[in-house]
Amino acid sequence: MREKSLHASIRNVAVVTGAANGIGWACAQAFAAAGYAVGLLDVDAAAVAGRAVELGAEHVGLGCDVTDAAQVDAAFELIAGRFGRLDALVNNAGIIGSQEPSIRQDMDYFDRITKVIVNGTFLCSRAAYRRMSAQGHGSIVNVGSISGLVGLPRRNAYGAAKAGVHSLTRALASEWAGEGIRVNAVAPGYIATAMVKGLIERGVADAARLERRIPMGRLGTPEDVADAILFLASDKARYITGAILSVDGGWAAFGDAGHAFEANAH
Ligand code: NDP
Repeated sequence: MREKSLHASIRNVAVVTGAANGIGWACAQAFAAAGYAVGLLDVDAAAVAGRAVELGAEHVGLGCDVTDAAQVDAAFELIAGRFGRLDALVNNAGIIGSQEPSIRQDMDYFDRITKVIVNGTFLCSRAAYRRMSAQGHGSIVNVGSISGLVGLPRRNAYGAAKAGVHSLTRALASEWAGEGIRVNAVAPGYIATAMVKGLIERGVADAARLERRIPMGRLGTPEDVADAILFLASDKARYITGAILSVDGGWAAFGDAGHAFEANAH
């Protein structure tokens, strides 16, 4: 009885992977604020359960390693069973790796990065497809990266994996459009999350240099990315599929020599 009234009162349902931190957590909050019931998935079960409690009683947080097909299928079954529908999936879970020179790249870690980013996106998309194709509608938004658009030194497995995400986006968009499922991606630039703060702290990235390289003169926020993802997931983007939307303050557009950002430049 309780489940029935829950189904009736919920307009839209979204699943966000890697939802305990950074961009994923910002997405969970943005979708909840837009009226979605949110299934938050993360490899850190305790952290994501806490996030769901923070968000409110109609949301659910589940431990789920996106590289594990059995865990993924179980999580999607549970969410679909609880809410009775699935309107949006955000494939956000990711790891960046050590950024060691490529010649020293540990191959086990190379495989792990690829597995989390490419296999995880694929497994979750397939799990979502089962429900979305039965409904005749759904929207998947993948989190790609500028690393998948251009060559960044030492970003070997990560860049290759993100290019793979962009490619999967186009392939699945083409394959599933006839079933009412749109698949798009965002390609974030440098976003101030623990991932990028870690690069800055380890001296792999320099915040001031990055800001000068970004035409808009600042790092992005997780909310900047979450709002673009929410747009792509929503009906406002109803004729958009297979797109890779840069969310980078102009980073990928800039091709000149020198600084991209000069305060008060005309
Ligand atoms: P964070 O590290 O802040 O958050 C990523 C989340 O994903 C963490 O909670 C992490 O858990 C979780 N996660 C990692 N592996 C798995 C897994 N196997 N299964 C489920 N969850 C997992 O990163 P960001 O918010 O910065 O990044 C989010 C996405 O955006 C990533 O795909 C990243 O590549 C992409 N991106 C980020 C950019 C940036 O500048 N920050 C730029 C471009 C793209 P845990 O912490 O326990 O590992």
